[in-house]
Amino acid sequence: MAAPPRSKDELVRRCPRLGSPVPFGYCRKSGDRGLPCLMVFDCWWEVFDVVAHLRGILVPEDFGAVYEKRPKPKMTSLLEIIEQAKKRTQKDE
Ligand code: SF4
Repeated sequence: MAAPPRSKDELVRRCPRLGSPVPFGYCRKSGDRGLPCLMVFDCWWEVFDVVAHLRGILVPEDFGAVYEKRPKPKMTSLLEIIEQAKKRTQKDE
């Protein structure tokens, strides 16, 4: 039986982008400027409290940079597109 991971960095899951297993330590550094991947919240929220963990280890500016750029759920994006189209239509009238 494998020993349990010693730290969050050793936790492993399948990466939807790479199609292979990756440790959290990779996800934590694989974004721009060595910041976490923008998918990190979506990929890890079921495994542990990734928001609290990253808040604890990143400076607020870096946490905000990752959190604000995270991909939005498709339904949210679709609703925003519809709302923008409505506003454009109202302007044109
Ligand atoms: S956070 Fe990024 S690198 Fe990590 S598993 Fe998700 S998509 Fe892959």
